[in-house]
Amino acid sequence: MNILTFDIEEWALETGRSGGARPEKIAEYDRMLKQLLELLSKRGIHATCFCTGKMAETYPHIIRLLADNGHEIACHSYIHTWCNKMSPGQMQEDTHAAVDALEQCIGKKIKGYRAPAFSITEKNLWAFEILAQNGIEYDASVFPAKRDFGGFPSFGYDVPTLIQYKDIKIKEYPIPLLHIGSWKTAYSGGGYFRLFPYNIIQRTMNKSDYAMTYFHLNDLISEPKKLMTREAYERYFKEKGTLINRYKRFIKSSIGTGDSMGKLVKLIRENDFVNIETAGKQIDWTETPIVKLS
Ligand SMILES: [Zn+2]
Repeated sequence: MNILTFDIEEWALETGRSGGARPEKIAEYDRMLKQLLELLSKRGIHATCFCTGKMAETYPHIIRLLADNGHEIACHSYIHTWCNKMSPGQMQEDTHAAVDALEQCIGKKIKGYRAPAFSITEKNLWAFEILAQNGIEYDASVFPAKRDFGGFPSFGYDVPTLIQYKDIKIKEYPIPLLHIGSWKTAYSGGGYFRLFPYNIIQRTMNKSDYAMTYFHLNDLISEPKKLMTREAYERYFKEKGTLINRYKRFIKSSIGTGDSMGKLVKLIRENDFVNIETAGKQIDWTETPIVKLS
């Protein structure tokens, strides 16, 4: 089973940047979205789009366009603040506002959630309670390997699982991993999708019963990236914007950007995908692993 997902936040983040939105960036996102929607419609593929609440408020026509094209709308926080940078109270407010904005925008219940930057880890398990309190039935935030900012290597599974935490149960769609010897790494989205050659990604997907891709439009833009200013880095990552930290981020965001949109187009042309809503109906949840967290 191949699942196609996107995280949709770029327009609203661009509008919120100091100095305001650059019209050429907004036009670029519009153009990329149009290209993807046309391709998906031609292939009869529906994706899951994790969207921020702010997108629903400031660019409701984009969220409705996605929904009108049959794509599933799910939640990607209110304004892309990482869960591990929020207190439980702040995340409760953030999630409530985001779910509310998205539901009002499309007139449909929101069932899924993905934390910005996969920021639910063993250190903030309370996040699952907050999701359940806000009517979320499944999560796709677990990155079950080591990662620069967090990751959840002790999770133990990279296939759909049922999480039990306190008295709640939530379905989890973790990021699938590629095993190279004892090294486990993501391969099907973000910088990893840019890093690995197409045939390695395709071969890994062919071998797997479960593959979930994940993309931000910004991951797919081919223009050269710039070193972030200290101010912008600290505002976004909420950690010290030293030259080393900024340079590491620059290298990561620059790797392989040259052909990543073309690579994704090829992947969509050559593979069938479903969204999480459809996948959830195909999975036998009595057979999936149960992960008890405490
Ligand atoms: Zn995001």
